Amino acid sequence: MPENAPSSPPPRPILSIVAPVYNEEAILHELYRRVSQVMDAQFGEPWELVLVNDGSWDRSYEIMLELHEQDPRVHIVNFSRNFGHQIAITAGMDYAQGQAVVIIDADLQDPPEVILDLAAKWREGYEVVYAIRRERKGETWFKLWTAKMFYRIINKITGVNIPLDTGDFRLLDRKAVDALRQIREHHRFMRGLSVWIGFRQTGVTYVREERFAGETKYPLRKMLKFAMDGITSFSYLPLQLATYMGFTIAGLSILGIILTIILRLSGSKAFYGQATTLVMVLFLGGIQLISLGIIGEYLGRIYDEVKNRPLYIVDEAVGFEKRETGPTYR
Ligand code: UDP
Ligand code: MG
Repeated sequence: MPENAPSSPPPRPILSIVAPVYNEEAILHELYRRVSQVMDAQFGEPWELVLVNDGSWDRSYEIMLELHEQDPRVHIVNFSRNFGHQIAITAGMDYAQGQAVVIIDADLQDPPEVILDLAAKWREGYEVVYAIRRERKGETWFKLWTAKMFYRIINKITGVNIPLDTGDFRLLDRKAVDALRQIREHHRFMRGLSVWIGFRQTGVTYVREERFAGETKYPLRKMLKFAMDGITSFSYLPLQLATYMGFTIAGLSILGIILTIILRLSGSKAFYGQATTLVMVLFLGGIQLISLGIIGEYLGRIYDEVKNRPLYIVDEAVGFEKRETGPTYR
């Protein structure tokens, strides 16, 4: 890494643009080009691009280093391995130095031009400005439908009202960023947390583009985990379901007992035999296992919190050396 001239520290950025990157070698040059074009030509104040390399195993990191050489406003946080999208965003916010931070996907589905709209609302005095997808191009119907259902369900069962059709693309004022940085929970659901912190919040609409290149890094498995993190971190409803089901089944069985007594007294031979018993035992066994599983989901998450490991391990942070305030590592 060449040393920068110590005499002229770079101006402190007004806006930090944070992009999590996982195997996006095909996109990074274009991301830098689009972001720098918009920011230089239209934003007109100091900015930085914080690329968080979330354990990519393609050429992403090399390209990031090239971009940093070319433009020292590109800063890099290189993770020691893949820690996941939400953690990468968190690290970006820990390192970002701007007066406001914009979280953006690296794949250019969130057009960098929208940053200007977000910043305009910020200038009006809002601390959290989220970008609402008016339209989503190039997504499968399955993803659109599951996302739609998920946000409607989570808003019903949790106390936080996550604005519908928003992702992680949003602007956060320094106050909001500092509030979020205090939250160090491991199974982070940033969309919920950024509502939870409060402050003045508003949204602007935009059209979500197709991925510029490459494939989605969110296979079904990761999407399910993400959904579970969202629900468990904001709701106890799954735990309470066991209670509700317990009461319902107990109530039904009391009715069943009364019915059986009446049938027996009247000499009926109905409901004799093993099949009934077997079906009921299996049914109850199933419900008990599901309930245990739900408890397990919460228990595992509690265990992760109790262990209190750092959220991420940084291999190298490039471009942040000259800053006054150090980053938080956990
Ligand atoms: N990403 C990441 N770590 C991961 C998975 C994804 O940093 O483990 C990044 C990815 O590089 C992209 C953003 O998170 O910048 C969103 O991922 P993607 O575009 O694949 O998700 P989708 O838009 O398909 O939901
Ligand atoms: Mg994407």
